Order: sequence, then C-alpha cells, then structure tokens
Amino acid sequence: MDLKIKGKLAVVTGSTKGIGKAIAKTLANEGAHVVLNGRSQGSIDEALEELKGEGEITGIPADVGTAAGCSKLLEEAQKLGPIEILVNNAGIFEPKPFQEITDEDWLKFYEVNVMSGIRMSRGVVPSMKDRGWGRILFIASESAINIPTEMVHYGMTKTAQLAVSRGLAKTLKDTGVTVNSVLPGPTWSEGVETFVEQMAEGGDVEETKKAFFEEARPSSLIQRFADTEEVAALVTYLCSGQAAATTGAAMRCDGGIVDTCF
Ligand code: NAD
Repeated sequence: MDLKIKGKLAVVTGSTKGIGKAIAKTLANEGAHVVLNGRSQGSIDEALEELKGEGEITGIPADVGTAAGCSKLLEEAQKLGPIEILVNNAGIFEPKPFQEITDEDWLKFYEVNVMSGIRMSRGVVPSMKDRGWGRILFIASESAINIPTEMVHYGMTKTAQLAVSRGLAKTLKDTGVTVNSVLPGPTWSEGVETFVEQMAEGGDVEETKKAFFEEARPSSLIQRFADTEEVAALVTYLCSGQAAATTGAAMRCDGGIVDTCF
C-alpha cells in the first residue's frame, strides 16, 4: 500500500526513545522527512546515530513541556517546510500512590502530557487548514479509559488528550485535516523498562513483568507488552493519505485490555 506521505514533513515529539523513536523510524522508512525531538542534543545525536540509513531525519532539541520549548520546536521545524504531520507523543509516567502526588506533580504531568500537544497543535493548524491537508495524532493510552490506581495523575492526562483530540477534530470539520488519538496498551519502551524496575523495587524484574499482567492488567488479551513497532505501524497508517476518512477517533492498540469491542 502506498501511504502517500513521501516528502511530507512530520514532527514527532519525544522521539529519541521508545514509541516516538519507532514512529519516527517508520515514518522515515515510508518516505516522510521526520523531525526527531528530545530535550537534549546528546539524546538526539544518539538516536540519529541509531536511525542512520532509515530515511530523512532532522533532530531539533526542545522541551515540549514548556511554552518556550514548543515555540522553539515549531519555529525551527517550520524552517524546513510546512509541517504536514504532527505526532504528539512526548509523555511522562511514574507509579505514585494518590496521597503522595503533589500539586507540582499534577501540574507537571498536565504541562508535559497535555499542554505540549495543545501548544504544538495550535502552531500547525493554520497552515494545515490553508493547505487543505494535515494529520494530527495524540498518543494517549488505554490508561485514558482504565485509569490506573498506581498513577491516577497520568490517567487524568491521557483522558484529557482524548477530549482535546476529539474536540479539535470537530473544529476541523471538512478541512482535509484529520485528528485522532491512539491508545497503546503496555508497550516495551525505555520508559516502561524504568517503570517496571521502579515497581520491582530492587526485586526480580521478570517476575514483576509477569505479575503486572496477572495483577494490574488481567484483561489484556495478549498478556504481554506490545513492541514499539506494533504501535508505530498503526500511527503511521493514521498519518497517511490512506486514512483520510478516519478522524475524531480513538484507535486502540492495547492488546484488548479495554473490555469493549468498540
Ligand atoms: P519513553 O519514556 O520510552 O520515551 C519518551 C520520550 O519522550 C523520550 O525520548 C523522552 O526524552 C521524551 N520526552 C519526555 N519528556 C519530554 C519533553 N518534555 N520534551 C521533549 N521530549 C520529552 O516513553 P514511551 O513509553 O515511549 O511513551 C511515549 C508515549 O506513549 C507517552 O505519551 C506515553 O504516555 C504513551 N504510552 C506509552 C505506553 C507504554 O506502555 N510504553 C502505553 C500507553 C501510552
């Protein structure tokens, strides 16, 4: 299938590791010019080295958890051409009991996980509308629906992303610009590796991985972590010219964890 994204400029936030890096790689493999983003030049250089030969990729360091960082990323990316694909992927997570989540934690999670996507989307919508073509993706989570007891603050941000995505799609009715969210389930990324180590508290990581599905995610129908490439494949399709009739949707890539069929 020709995804019809050759030569299109695609910005993927938080793409030096994990799901974002896999999305960047897949989009580049399909011929898009990808902007790779992370907070430091060092992490970008490392990822660029790893992705050498995968396609056209340009790195731009910026902290999308701040307004200034989003402006910097938008400004520098737009020097490369009009942004036609935006994947709001950057996100943070950590297990923390509800009583221990401070005001600062709540606000930080909101800034990084929600405001980043809002600010980046606001920056790309005008030119996407003018050109009559655009793709905006929010990488939410099954945690948007199954709010995890071990990180309620994270769940809150992921539900908020669904509202923003659906609302933005409605404002872009009949413009050629589609907006969707993707709900991955547990996916084996660098961030999740750290998360599982934190949960293991110095104990056996393999045992913790197994217990995670048995105890925290028993409804998973695949009973394993997804690979980052499995999530990237769905995201790349939604970024494509072939996905023009899909907008305002929350697409699951959750291994069947959410116990509904729609
Ligand atoms: P990860 O921690 O492995 O990678 C996150 C990337 O984002 C890193 O490159 C990091 O440097 C970057 N990043 C973090 N904060 C940033 C900031 N302020 N500015 C710029 N870059 C920043 O994470 P992941 O597991 O790949 O998760 C990626 C997205 O997928 C997140 O939004 C997460 O909520 C979502 N998600 C992950 C899973 C999972 O199980 N891995 C499941 C559902 C949803």
